[in-house]
Amino acid sequence: MAEETIFSKIIRHEIPSDIVYQDDTVTAFRDISPKAKVHILIIPNKIIPSVNEIEESDEQLIGHLFTVAGKVARAEGIAEDGYRLIFNCGKNGGQEVPHLHMHLLGGEQLRGFGF
Ligand code: AMP
Repeated sequence: MAEETIFSKIIRHEIPSDIVYQDDTVTAFRDISPKAKVHILIIPNKIIPSVNEIEESDEQLIGHLFTVAGKVARAEGIAEDGYRLIFNCGKNGGQEVPHLHMHLLGGEQLRGFGF
C-alpha cells in the first residue's frame, strides 16, 4: 500500500481545497501555487505514486484522467484556446508530491516547458 500524501486529505475533503470536479475515481482541484491563470491538478483517488507505478490494470483510470481534463478545460472556458497537460515524474522531473497528478495549465499563452 503506497503512502498517503496531502492529496488524499484533499480527496476526502479533510483539508480546504478548491475542488472543481470529483467522481468515484478522479478528483480535480486548483493548484495552491498556480503557474498559469488556470492551473488545476487532476488526480486518481487511488494512490499511484508516479507514472513509474502505473499498471496495466490502471489503464482505464489513466484514460479517465484525460477525459476529465477535457471536461474541466471546457468548464473553465479554456478548451478552444488550448492548454497544456503535464505529468512530472520523480526527482529529475520535478515531482514534489508522490501521488500521480496531471497538471492542467492554461488561460493564457504558455511559454517553454519549464515550471
Ligand atoms: P509536482 O511538482 O508535479 O509534484 O506538483 C505538485 C503541485 O501540487 C505543485 O504545483 C503544488 O503547488 C501543488 N500543491 C501542493 N500542495 C497543494 C495543496 N494543498 N493544494 C493544492 N495544490 C497543492
